[in-house]
Amino acid sequence: MSSTAPQDFGYPLVLEDFMPVIQPPTANSPSHCAVCHAVVNQSKKCSGCKNIIYCSKSCQTANWAQHKTLCKAYTNASRPTTQHRRAVLFAAEQARARFIWLRYGSDGTPLDMTAWFPDMAQGDDNDVRTVAFHSRFLPYWIQLSFDGNTSGTRSLDSNAAIQCAFRGPVVAVAYDAEEGLGKPALDADTRLLGPVLDYARLRAEYAGPVFVEQPQERYTEEDWARIRDEAAANQGHI
Ligand SMILES: [Zn+2]
Ligand SMILES: [Zn+2]
Repeated sequence: MSSTAPQDFGYPLVLEDFMPVIQPPTANSPSHCAVCHAVVNQSKKCSGCKNIIYCSKSCQTANWAQHKTLCKAYTNASRPTTQHRRAVLFAAEQARARFIWLRYGSDGTPLDMTAWFPDMAQGDDNDVRTVAFHSRFLPYWIQLSFDGNTSGTRSLDSNAAIQCAFRGPVVAVAYDAEEGLGKPALDADTRLLGPVLDYARLRAEYAGPVFVEQPQERYTEEDWARIRDEAAANQGHI
């Protein structure tokens, strides 16, 4: 395995899968199926958006229900101004994620993020919290913005689009590992969706329905032994 090849640690997914890799994927890195992560030829892109790659028809079919909304919007979207970057909105009451445009200052500050959190008092962005993670199959970092509501005055409900409990909407942005948050975000694309859903589900498994930032809660030894046993029974290895 070359030093640039993403490592596949196999099933089950653990939080470490989202930890930074030493060298993130580049244009020369092998392409991976968005579903099973098998290495595939570049030619197997979704014909609709040409943004996401699958190893087979069956992986594409399995992913279509999730991918289709962003697929259509990806090619149609036009940037309002050069200050805008594409992000993904997981609105609490909508079943599917959708693309939105966020306006950025030259210092990398999103200027209108609070507009997507209408339940917060106008102009009060103190409760917008963020958490960032890296999927080893993506060439960028993902940052989620959500309502932290430290005073607990807004309820924690299931967000249909991200399939996890949040106080209202969640906004996902993509950003460059080198530039960090000191520059405007990158344009989010359709590949971000699967890792965000996986990450939210994983965090819920670790910390219950409350989406918390650091410190991360790990599996208990007991849970981890059970997961290993199940994986060993199913696949002969983990
Ligand atoms: Zn596949
Ligand atoms: Zn597509």
